[in-house]
Amino acid sequence: MGLFSKENCIVCGIEVGAMSRTKLNDGNFICTSCMSKTKLSDGWNINTLKSATLTQINDRIKLAEQNEKENNDRISRFTPTLKEDGYIWFDDNNNWFAIPKGTFSAKIDNSFVFKYSEILDFEVLEDGATITKGGFGKAIVGGAIFGLAGAIAGGTSKKSKQVCTKLEIKITTKNIDNPVIYITLLNTEFKKDSFVYKTAYKSVQNILSKFQIIVNQLENNSDIEKNENISVTDEIKKYKELLDMGAISQEEFDEKKKQLLNL
Ligand SMILES: [Zn+2]
Repeated sequence: MGLFSKENCIVCGIEVGAMSRTKLNDGNFICTSCMSKTKLSDGWNINTLKSATLTQINDRIKLAEQNEKENNDRISRFTPTLKEDGYIWFDDNNNWFAIPKGTFSAKIDNSFVFKYSEILDFEVLEDGATITKGGFGKAIVGGAIFGLAGAIAGGTSKKSKQVCTKLEIKITTKNIDNPVIYITLLNTEFKKDSFVYKTAYKSVQNILSKFQIIVNQLENNSDIEKNENISVTDEIKKYKELLDMGAISQEEFDEKKKQLLNL
């Protein structure tokens, strides 16, 4: 099996040359096209792919297609209730947020739309040092939300610098494909008393406040949600009984289940 030999893709069966295939740990090959269909991410990286079985790869392709369809659906239904410039958009009616893309006009057409419930933590980084952090089930720590500066972690000096080169918000999510998101507000050096820095800082505060409101609401709702989950399970059980009785078809059951689980 030399470099110029053709191999069959384990997924689609098509013969591919060395330049358009990847060898899996079990010795099989996957073509570039099938590999891209699995949508490599932080949660499904090249090593996960290489050690996966054919079933796992096929499941992953199905899941990636589903996720894409679902995301496109969210994009089409996304109606911003709050836009913090081109940094982040919120949709309070659907409980979604997205980081828009585009230099001249921000759009979310190619963005991932997250559910509010996927938020775990958020923190403000100034030149790499955390100045404020908060998250689900956590009190907010640090001064950014109140307009104070100075690192709370990772900083070496208590006296804050007079310039800032990088100002960003890092969001940690429960989404395995997009576990970490960065919103970059500044990426060049600005004096902290400059208009640009102050404007960016104002956005940081707005975004942080919004995130804090969201996680507070999530915490308040988590008890309600638990009860809702129980009733959803009960509902599904009822339909399962109807299915077993032959009163409804498998298709009808699947459709109902999907509705109840909000899939
Ligand atoms: Zn293939």
